[in-house]
Amino acid sequence: MIQLHGIHKTYHNGAPLHVLKGIDLVVERGEMVAIMGASGSGKSTLLNILGILDTYDTGTYTLNGQLIRDLSETRAAELRNRMIGFVFQSFNLISFKNAVENVALPLYYQGVNRRRRNALAMEYLDMVGLKDWATHLPNEMSGGQKQRVAIARSLIAHPQVILADEPTGALDSQTTIEVMRLLREVNREGMTMIIVTHEPSVAEATDRVIRLKDGLIEKIEKGAGHV
Ligand code: ADP
Ligand code: MG
Repeated sequence: MIQLHGIHKTYHNGAPLHVLKGIDLVVERGEMVAIMGASGSGKSTLLNILGILDTYDTGTYTLNGQLIRDLSETRAAELRNRMIGFVFQSFNLISFKNAVENVALPLYYQGVNRRRRNALAMEYLDMVGLKDWATHLPNEMSGGQKQRVAIARSLIAHPQVILADEPTGALDSQTTIEVMRLLREVNREGMTMIIVTHEPSVAEATDRVIRLKDGLIEKIEKGAGHV
């Protein structure tokens, strides 16, 4: 599903900062992997490249057989919308839209009509156990509920892969378990998933744990594969 070969990335805002120094990684379809590493080790940079939110300098990145390289911003956005679902630590819900409208948003960008958008969004809200919360605004929901809305939103356009940057970073430990159970369930249905985390319990729930250190993969361990 995902193939990275010799990925390098240097930031040039001020003194050049060589953040990724030759990343080689293959993630199979249906796999759930964690990326761990100290703050500043390049985890978010790597996830942004995987999410076609940022470019890399040298190497190759292939997603679902497609070389991700030298894309126009329009083409990058198109691939992103079609192939990738994002989940963030801070949920990134739109505060003045209710739960069902937030979930429906990716379909709006695909030109799906409102009636069909909302019907599908209700199905996904139901799947994450939040059917009764459809008309609530984000600030009326708990952190765990907000993240479940965000997960429903990430799934609604049938992406090839879900990329999550610290998805449980703002949640207490019980809610973390609930959110990880949901992600694991989604993964069991076949969704490929890459989760950046600094929480050992979250990493342990995945199939493989990739450890980054100073811009390189230091080691890869097996996870327990369950929450
Ligand atoms: P992590 O997510 O593992 O904490 P990051 O990938 O966010 O690490 O950052 C790696 C390094 O790159 C850090 O030193 C960070 O300050 C730097 N960095 C991240 N984004 C940028 C950017 N847009 N411009 C310049 N430096 C950046
Ligand atoms: Mg980060």
